[in-house]
Amino acid sequence: MTQVRTRFAPSPTGYLHVGGARTALFSWLYARRHGGVFVLRIEDTDLERSTLESINAILEGMTWLGLDYDEGPFYQTERFDRYNAVIDQLLGSGWAYRCDCSRERLDGLREEAMARKEKPRYDGYCRGRTVASDAPHVVRFRTPAEGSVVIEDRVQGRIVIPNSELDDLIIRRSDGAPTYNLSVVVDDVDMGITHVIRGADHINNTPRQIHIFRALRAPLPEFAHVPMIHGADGAKLSKRHGAVSVMQYRDEGYLPEALLNYLVRLGWSHGDQEIFSLDEMIAQFDIAAVNRSASVFSPDKLLWLNQHYLQHADPHRVARLLSPHMGRLGIDPSLGPDLVAVVRAQEGRAKTLVELAEISAFFYRDFDAFEEQAARKHLRPVAEEALRGVRTGLAALDTWTPAAVHGVVEAVAASREVNLGKVAQPLRVAVVGRAASPGIDVTLHLVGKAACLRRIDQALAHIRAQAEHP
Ligand code: GLU
Repeated sequence: MTQVRTRFAPSPTGYLHVGGARTALFSWLYARRHGGVFVLRIEDTDLERSTLESINAILEGMTWLGLDYDEGPFYQTERFDRYNAVIDQLLGSGWAYRCDCSRERLDGLREEAMARKEKPRYDGYCRGRTVASDAPHVVRFRTPAEGSVVIEDRVQGRIVIPNSELDDLIIRRSDGAPTYNLSVVVDDVDMGITHVIRGADHINNTPRQIHIFRALRAPLPEFAHVPMIHGADGAKLSKRHGAVSVMQYRDEGYLPEALLNYLVRLGWSHGDQEIFSLDEMIAQFDIAAVNRSASVFSPDKLLWLNQHYLQHADPHRVARLLSPHMGRLGIDPSLGPDLVAVVRAQEGRAKTLVELAEISAFFYRDFDAFEEQAARKHLRPVAEEALRGVRTGLAALDTWTPAAVHGVVEAVAASREVNLGKVAQPLRVAVVGRAASPGIDVTLHLVGKAACLRRIDQALAHIRAQAEHP
């Protein structure tokens, strides 16, 4: 059996978006599953729209997602000589011909077709003519007039396109530049691609490309066109629906494995399993099991997966990834409690790293104000005595451990004959600024003695001020 070879072939005209990432993931998984080779090819022939910045963004996105490629990146702009050699070969074998039809003539054809309410197409005028190679011309592919192309698409099923619907496409422009469909086929042949997995928006190109494969006497790859991704409103996924750039997800605090897990389930399923490790994806992914219909992007589900992965990831790794998000809040985590301990304490509390940074800021710096609702509920005159008692107890501690902190809170609650919450909640709001945090003893331990006492004083002042000016 021949070795499976797949490719991802993005056009670098923007960032790596989630649709492209999913196509890349499916191609990558197919190669990995079958012990094959995954090739990265940058389709940068559109010189006006391709940018170095986009190329870098795509490479960065692939790296972040861990979609490693075995060959490439190959750049189409470096292969023009090869494409031109193939075009000359097609001219030689009669599969292509030169065409010098004027713009006026072509415009006329288009208008006539429109008037007849037909699809505009070239009428083959130059098929039988001889056009000198040094005169201005384009090169067209001689599409068979009869018959039809049958695509046994691994996702879409059988697709039949009559050749009468295809016209003689231009494969070299008048400026000598090879065109898109030609370059793709030459690359897929030269790179030995066995499975072309790409977006369903390319289905229209496939019959044209199949003709070129045949003209080159090259074996046809398998085709698998994966469905488009839509927003919940049924429209094609766009910025309107939220982040579409892969790197934006990193910046918003997502883990790459959460995005991969989300993407693999977008159009593909394996029973009712939702959580897939990379190894499970590789072992179970099957291109033939991908849905035909458009997939609907659900930001909530992605968020849910991210929370799951954040909760189960190695705290050391989470701390490393969290650090820059703390930095964005102006916090240097090396100047406070161990970030790994903070991550452990916060386990399961945040959906993204951005949120985790926000709810962990208080460990590293005093806050400007108490959250209004929490303060109104918990920093009231009835809490004053308990807070004072806790302050005295904490100030007297020689060793600052979670157990010692716990002992003080318990002792104050016992002496006042109230349950632990009546003491812990005002204390939490005093030290954290809001009503939610990890366990009170761990929280206070990590915040540190001096900061705890300072913040309790601040809370007592707040209670006093409220009592005087309610
Ligand atoms: N360059 C095309 C794109 O970015 C993909 C072409 C292909 O996969 O054949 O949409």
